[in-house]
Amino acid sequence: MYDLVVVGGGPAGSSCAYHASKNGLKVLLLEKHKVPRFKLCAGCLSKRISSHLPDGWEKLVLNRIKGGVLGYAGREDFELMNDQDIAYIVDRAEFDAFLLEKAQEEGVEVLQECEVLSIEANSGKCKVVTSKGSFYGDFLVGADGFYSTVAKALGYKKSKFFKSLEFFTFGDLVEKVIIDIGWVKRGYAWVFPKGDRLSVGIACREGGDLSKNLFEYAKTRGIKIDGRVYGWHIPYMERERDVFYGAGRVLLVGDAANLTDPLLGEGIYYAVLSGKLAVQAIAESPSEPLALYRELLKGLVSELVYAGKIASLGYRFQKVAYSMSKKGILKHYYRLLTGELSYRELYIKGWFYFLKELVSEYANIYNYLRR
Ligand SMILES: Cc1cc2nc3c(=O)[nH]c(=O)nc-3n(C[C@H](O)[C@H](O)[C@H](O)COP(=O)(O)OP(=O)(O)OC[C@H]3O[C@@H](n4cnc5c(N)ncnc54)[C@H](O)[C@@H]3O)c2cc1C
Repeated sequence: MYDLVVVGGGPAGSSCAYHASKNGLKVLLLEKHKVPRFKLCAGCLSKRISSHLPDGWEKLVLNRIKGGVLGYAGREDFELMNDQDIAYIVDRAEFDAFLLEKAQEEGVEVLQECEVLSIEANSGKCKVVTSKGSFYGDFLVGADGFYSTVAKALGYKKSKFFKSLEFFTFGDLVEKVIIDIGWVKRGYAWVFPKGDRLSVGIACREGGDLSKNLFEYAKTRGIKIDGRVYGWHIPYMERERDVFYGAGRVLLVGDAANLTDPLLGEGIYYAVLSGKLAVQAIAESPSEPLALYRELLKGLVSELVYAGKIASLGYRFQKVAYSMSKKGILKHYYRLLTGELSYRELYIKGWFYFLKELVSEYANIYNYLRR
């Protein structure tokens, strides 16, 4: 019998379990795999996550990112570097194992290679049926990622997600990432460093032949696909109603709740934060944690809604988005990654750049007609 059972040992689950134990709760975390386990991910942490991670995480940083190259459809690109770090690259197997270890050090009981098969949360207690028997908790947190068994048990069905492909190869990319738009509808391709290797991938919110796109993209960037190509999905939310909060004494966090950025699919930051907020809701409102959880998530959800507005416009008008980035909006995006700017502020700034772009376009047409 536990105060809290957490399903899933990714960043959302470990963050939740860590804070719950710190708050004095008796916590059990159930993880399907043996840790460290592989997780398909570019492993890019925006700098703003720093203050939300347990001490010692910096030793896991493989690459410090100071800027990047933004490209458009293989035809043009530009580079913008910052004085300060804007992001960090980690290996997800190591990073997730570290977070889980920190939770254990805080007193969390962890059961690995234990798959949750179903849950029952109708009565006062939550029952969790697993491949290693049944467990009971006063509260249950579903942190079991994209294919969340807990979310499914509550009747949720994912409808909004990026399809993504990624492979790893040897290569050198110092202090920067490459992001290319104009390759797919509503999505992007990337080359990120991963220590002395590269992670190359493509993510797209609409159909199409993603394998073909990735092949052409890698070729254009001069990268040979010489290993396995992995595929996974990244959920996202654009509207408040897209969030899967949970029900009763069962709360959902991270990818299970769709708390992922609709622009680039950044999820680790939101996973860590939502895990922490779920604990605050349970600790401060044990009789009705869900209502408080909704309330506590408001700021984060509102940010993701603004990110959704930017994504929707940016992916519909990718060439305009590229030009606006080149003329200054990318430097503001870097400020978002460091935590100095919100998505709401970025959205408002975006309109200013968009109008400037429009005026200059009209001026070009006017000058052309006058010739
Ligand atoms: C190709 C790709 C690239 C990405 N790149 C980035 C990036 O650079 N930066 C970024 O911030 N985000 C990135 N993301 C998104 C990021 O990986 C996720 O948002 C993040 O992992 C969410 O964390 P989580 O803890 O919610 O879920 P997960 O990390 O998926 O963890 C869920 C855990 O639950 C376990 N589990 C699942 N089912 C069960 C079960 N039934 N019983 C017990 N355990 C279970 C799993 O084994 C897993 O350990 C990327 C995603 C993809 C696919």
